Amino acid sequence: MDRLIYLDNAATTKTAPEVVEAMMPYFTEYYGNPSSVYGFAAANKEVVTAQREKIAGALGAAPNEIYFTAGGSESDNWALVATAEAYGAKGKHIITSKIEHHAILHTCEYLEKRGFEITYLDVDGNGEVKLEQLREAIREDTILISVMFANNEIGTIQPIQEIGAIAKEHGILFHTDAVQAFGQVPIDVDACHIDMLSASGHKLNGPKGIGFLYIRKGVKIRSFIHGGAQERKRRAGTENVPGIVGFGKAAERAVTTMKERTAKERELRDYLIKRIETEIPYCRLNGDRANRLPNNINFSFQFIEGESLLIMLDMKGICASSGSACTSGSLDPSHVLLAIGLPHEIAHGSLRLTLSDETTKEDLDYVAESLKEIVQNLRNMSPLYEDFVKKQSK
Ligand SMILES: *Cc1c(COP(=O)(O)O)cnc(C)c1O
Repeated sequence: MDRLIYLDNAATTKTAPEVVEAMMPYFTEYYGNPSSVYGFAAANKEVVTAQREKIAGALGAAPNEIYFTAGGSESDNWALVATAEAYGAKGKHIITSKIEHHAILHTCEYLEKRGFEITYLDVDGNGEVKLEQLREAIREDTILISVMFANNEIGTIQPIQEIGAIAKEHGILFHTDAVQAFGQVPIDVDACHIDMLSASGHKLNGPKGIGFLYIRKGVKIRSFIHGGAQERKRRAGTENVPGIVGFGKAAERAVTTMKERTAKERELRDYLIKRIETEIPYCRLNGDRANRLPNNINFSFQFIEGESLLIMLDMKGICASSGSACTSGSLDPSHVLLAIGLPHEIAHGSLRLTLSDETTKEDLDYVAESLKEIVQNLRNMSPLYEDFVKKQSK
């Protein structure tokens, strides 16, 4: 296969060459442990601080509010479990949404087994949390609201500022999983009243296995990894210096190119959406049309299976993702697609395409042509489609 069109940037991204370049010396030359006393290694402490400053600057936060972790999942786990422990005496109720990433949902299940009560907010047909329902869910014993900034499957961006204002009004902590949003959407933690925020390097052309949790000064939160005194005693473990340098570079790159890059992605995104909508019958765009991540496209195609679609696309060199969680060994359709009200059979025929700054119009034309052909071929093999066509022609 000569052609490779990578449209699964919500799953992970290519590490940018300048990011790799920035990281390299910290493997082979400046490999010292930042906690060591001698200058050779101690210099790395300042390198780590410089990255913290860059990342904090991108969020309107202070450098000492950024805690490096091993990725988005760890940050999400930490925010929930440690808040539950630190504030459990005050209350045992947490509010989240039905469309969170599993790093949040499975942590909530874990907390439920330990005596916490979780309210899972519904979303509307576009995937937006209903603010009225959020207000109604708040109780005396609510200690935390955790709602993602933007959804990884359907791309919908939540009304984060409004959610933050509601949390603040009631004196409740607000955490947001911004793994998909950081680097794609401008974020200001003060304007949005965010108390904790998770992000991950590999979703913005940085390396895998590095993330951070922003924790607002004054938030009482326990450490999650116990050991040494790194990260102001809140997250033990020798700093992943190359990873942190890579993340810093990736964040800087994402922020400085954001306006131009996302404008281009938005234009290409809308171009492909339009082609699919006008050229392939019986399809539905999932997620909010305007208020969505600049690089996210998610469609359901009636009468076909998302898994078959992925395999056929793969044969044409196109990397995409479907709306079912079959990677986790189950064939249940995605919880996100069910939450926006899709029936099982429609949710099963879903496809997510997430663009990068390297995606071209030519790539998308090839995808549109391939998709048209594949969807038609799969429908021609479908007894459901055959029945449907017969009924139509009566
Ligand atoms: C990818 C992702 C995560 C997990 O991040 P990792 O760094 O892979 O652990 C969490 N939340 C969302 C929304 C994601 O897209």
